[in-house]
Amino acid sequence: MDKKIPYKIYLEESEMPKQWYNVRADMKNKPAPLLNPGTLQPVTLEEMSHIFCEDLAKQELDDTTPYFDIPQEIQDFYRMYRPSPLVRAYCLEKELDTPAKIYYKFEGNNTSGSHKLNSAIAQAYYAKKQGLKGVTTETGAGQWGTALSMACSYFHLDCKVFMVKVSYEQKPFRREVMRTYGASVTPSPSNTTEVGRKILAEHPGTTGSLGCAISEAVEAATTNEGYRYVLGSVLTQVLLHQSVIGLETKAALDKYDIHPDIIIGCAGGGSNLGGLISPFAGEMLRGENHYQIIAVEPASCPSLTRGHYAYDFCDTGKVCPLAKMYTLGCDFIPSPNHAGGLRYHGMSPVISQLYDDHIIEARSVEQTAVFEAAERFARVEGILPAPESSHAIRVAIDEALKCKETGEEKTIVFGLTGTGYFDMVAYEKYNNGEMSDYIPSDETLAAEFAKLPKVE
Ligand SMILES: *Cc1c(COP(=O)(O)O)cnc(C)c1O
Repeated sequence: MDKKIPYKIYLEESEMPKQWYNVRADMKNKPAPLLNPGTLQPVTLEEMSHIFCEDLAKQELDDTTPYFDIPQEIQDFYRMYRPSPLVRAYCLEKELDTPAKIYYKFEGNNTSGSHKLNSAIAQAYYAKKQGLKGVTTETGAGQWGTALSMACSYFHLDCKVFMVKVSYEQKPFRREVMRTYGASVTPSPSNTTEVGRKILAEHPGTTGSLGCAISEAVEAATTNEGYRYVLGSVLTQVLLHQSVIGLETKAALDKYDIHPDIIIGCAGGGSNLGGLISPFAGEMLRGENHYQIIAVEPASCPSLTRGHYAYDFCDTGKVCPLAKMYTLGCDFIPSPNHAGGLRYHGMSPVISQLYDDHIIEARSVEQTAVFEAAERFARVEGILPAPESSHAIRVAIDEALKCKETGEEKTIVFGLTGTGYFDMVAYEKYNNGEMSDYIPSDETLAAEFAKLPKVE
C-alpha cells in the first residue's frame, strides 16, 4: 500500500476552483452549432433567450472563452458541500488483488445525491439574476429535478418539474423530496400541455421519455410569463458548470503528483463525464499530455457506440434547437425496465465531437454486469452507488482486472456520480435474479435512423 497517499484527498477551501473551464475553447474542431428547428439556421442569442436564461444562453453560444468566473454566490453555495473527496479505493484494489491504483471522485455527498447540483445552483442563480419568477424542467430518474428544487428553494424561485411517468410512479420518494423543496411535479406526458396531449393521443399508455418531458417543460416555460427552461445535461453550459468536478480532481491529483493513465465516466447526456474530463481533454487538445478517456453507456441506450453522428432534435416534440450529436433518434424510447437513468437518446455535442476526433473512447455495458460491479464496490468501499455511476465502476473494475493479468500498475480515476438509495427497486430486482439485459436490435435502431432529419 502506498502510504503517502491518504484514503481521501481533500482540497482546502482556498484551493477550490474560482473559474469554470470551457473545453470548447481548446477544440480545433468545434461542436457544430445548434440549429433553429424552424429555419434550420444556427440559433441566435435572441432566439435562445426566449427559452433559456440570457446569461446561460451566452455561455451556450461561447466556444472561444476558456475560463468563466464562478459568481461569488455560487462559490459560497459550492462550499456547503464541496470540495468533494477524491478517494483512493484501497479496499477495492485489495478486493480485486490488482496492482492498479484506483481513485474515484465522489459527487454523492449532497442531499440531491448526485453531481447535478453543481449545475442546478448555477442555473438557478442566473434565473434569479435575470429577475425571473421561476423555471421549468424535466427529470428522468429524478436526480436533476431534486437538485433543481434544492437550488430554486435556495434562491426563492418557483420550480415546475415534468417527471417521466414511469419514474414518477416507480420513484415516489424522489417526487416527495422535490415537493419538500417546494417544486411542483407533473407526470409526463401530461394533459397540461399541448405537446403532452398530442403525444398521449398518438401513444396512449406510453410510460414517457426524457424527450417528451423536455417538450412539455419547454412549452410550459414559453407559455408562462416570467419563466425559462433549464436542462440538467447535454447542453454545453451544463458541461461548463460541471467542469468544477474535473478541476478539483486535477488539483487533488497534482497535490500528490499523480498522473492518471485512464479516466472513466458514465455517460447519459454527457455532463458529468464532460465535467470530469474537461481539464484533461484540454491538455490533450493542447498537446501537453496524454490520457485514455473512456465513456461508459448502457447497452440498452447506446448512443455513442451504436448511434449516428448527425443533426437531430433534442426532444420528441421537436420544439428545441437541433444539435449535431451521436443519437439514436429523438423517438427512441429505451426499455422501461432498464434501471439506470442513462436513458437519453442523444449525447452532448462536445462529447460527441471529442469522440468523433478520437480524444475519448466509448464502451457499452449490460445492466446485470453493472449491478454486479455496484454490489462488489458497495461491499468493500461502503458507498451504495447509483446505478448510473456503477457503469463507470464496471469499466474501472474491468481495467483493474486487466492490470492484474498484465502486471501493469496503471492509475485509474473514475467519476462516482451519486448514491443509489432511491434505486432500491432496481437493486431488489438484481438481488432476486429478476434483472434482464435489454439490448435494442439493429432493426429497431435502423428504423429510428431512417427518421433522422435531413440537414446538411
Ligand atoms: C443524471 C445522472 C447521470 C447521467 O447524466 P450525465 O449528464 O451523463 O452526467 C449519471 N449519474 C448520476 C448519479 C446522475 O444522476
